[in-house]
Amino acid sequence: MLEIKNLKVELDAESGLVRAIDSMRLTLQRGETFALVGESGCGKSMTALALMRLLPENGRIASGDILIDGQDVLALPESQMRSVRGGRIGMIFQEPSTSLNPVMRVGDQLVEAIETHTALRGAAAREKAIDWLRKVGIPEPERRIDDYPFRMSGGQKQRVMIAMTLAAEPDYIVADEPTTALDVTIQAQVLDLLRTLQQEHGLGLLLITHDLAVVSGMAHRVALMYAGQIIEVAPAAEFFSAPKHPYAQALLRALPDASRRGTQLSAIPGTVPPLTQTFTGCRFAPRCELAMPECSHTQPELWEQGGTRSVRCLLHAPGRSTVMVPPAAQAPRATATTPETGATAGAPLLEVRGLRVRFPIRKGVLQRVHGWFDAVDGVSYQVRAGQTLALVGESGCGKTTSGKAIVQLMRGLATIEGEALLNGRNLFDLTGDALRAARRDIQIIFQDPFASLDPRMRVFDILEEGLVSLQPDMDAAARRARLEQLADQVGLRKDALERYPHEFSGGQRQRIAIARALAVRPKLIVCDEPTSALDVSVQAQILNLLKELQREMGIAYLFITHNIGVVEYIADHVAVMRSGKIVEQGACAQVLEHPQDPYTKRLIDAVPRLLIPAH
Ligand code: SF4
Repeated sequence: MLEIKNLKVELDAESGLVRAIDSMRLTLQRGETFALVGESGCGKSMTALALMRLLPENGRIASGDILIDGQDVLALPESQMRSVRGGRIGMIFQEPSTSLNPVMRVGDQLVEAIETHTALRGAAAREKAIDWLRKVGIPEPERRIDDYPFRMSGGQKQRVMIAMTLAAEPDYIVADEPTTALDVTIQAQVLDLLRTLQQEHGLGLLLITHDLAVVSGMAHRVALMYAGQIIEVAPAAEFFSAPKHPYAQALLRALPDASRRGTQLSAIPGTVPPLTQTFTGCRFAPRCELAMPECSHTQPELWEQGGTRSVRCLLHAPGRSTVMVPPAAQAPRATATTPETGATAGAPLLEVRGLRVRFPIRKGVLQRVHGWFDAVDGVSYQVRAGQTLALVGESGCGKTTSGKAIVQLMRGLATIEGEALLNGRNLFDLTGDALRAARRDIQIIFQDPFASLDPRMRVFDILEEGLVSLQPDMDAAARRARLEQLADQVGLRKDALERYPHEFSGGQRQRIAIARALAVRPKLIVCDEPTSALDVSVQAQILNLLKELQREMGIAYLFITHNIGVVEYIADHVAVMRSGKIVEQGACAQVLEHPQDPYTKRLIDAVPRLLIPAH
């Protein structure tokens, strides 16, 4: 058994002492998959690093014990710890490209792991390495063993990482977001592989992830973290069917899917508190809809609830007779405002016909064009006024390139053929004033709210920039009034306009990006993965906002995403892309519930779903 007892981890940061993990206790049995879940910054990855004694230089274990089968890991000298790392506990990281040595053949890396941690040497170790590559599903392992990592796809590299970790014959594995960097079909294969190997070898698997759907299909037990603490531990089936902590309940209600269409997602207001502050009460209190006066001055403990469940919430304190029934049990709130536009309503606003985006392939010293790569290869679709078309597909399928081409961000970078008719005028033929007017009508929101806002500009200046260039006739007073109204519309306070982007959280920055797009009153917004860099609770806030704006202002969205749950929730129509082509399109429910194309079927089958057992 792997045990963590009362672990405290601290980091020295510019902003002060960060108490990254506080009072952590958990046990992992061999043969068990235990999932540590939580939103970014909650301390789950720091737990893994502490377990391996791989904390960053500014971090330290302030107190607590880590025991592997009774042996105190923290008391071991570094020389012995090296054989524990890999030998007793293996680790699989999120990004296989950075975990493998790019200048060593994969076989040499595998043989090194085998020779370090087992008695096998030379030819026998190489034989074993080939065996492991075969086990993890690398085709032609005898040949591929001599490949360098760059010759392998992301999924294959992660398989090699899994082979390397298991080849050392550890008893426990820590997998930190092992499939987050992979496409959904590859994720399904890698999760399958992990599940099979874990069962075959009776390993204890500590699965660290933010993805609740992945957890529900993999884990025996779940621990949910919030602001450096575990706040609920439960068998997976009980956690997903009847979570007890108000945060767990809110998190599950914030997940978008088809059943929540037409309703508002239950976004959790506010953000995770900074871990530099000293807490006097419950860390979740400022965001908890069930908070009581005592929650702000009494710190809850992780109280046992019978069986293997425990919850850190005053509502579940021992001796408390009345446990309030949380609103989690209630159905999601239906929105009382204007009903959504039906899938068939709305005239075509944007009509894309035979769009082809070709990039030149250059070679040699003179960079001569040797060929062309068709990133988008003759796609046609329509976006209707006031409705949402989701463009879905795996990375590299051409969905983002297609969106950028329409917003005119590909001019000069690629050759564009075909037509994109906005209200009957081809966007690709426009120049001068006509092009400026079209740019006002179509705006874009990017995936990364950190990279898409200039850090040196105040929010006011960022928002004003678009207004000045696209509505030059507006005077300064009118612009200020418009920007204050916009801030209000996207849920930002007026004083936000005078601040800089770094003062905001990811969700707030995405609100700023939405305000920037809205400033010029567009008819269509291209949303390029606008929520994929956000946590679930913040994603729900942004999706609610986008829906609300669509209802109020009749904006159409071209919504580019790989997240099928988001598509089910927000889209009226879907177009599925693969290798630059659309393989299937139609009304959302029809495509997602009755896919006709084999690729669409594979894609939808591979999407992890929350498996909530029936009572
Ligand atoms: Fe909410 Fe209070 Fe429970 Fe904290 S202790 S989760 S604030 S009810």
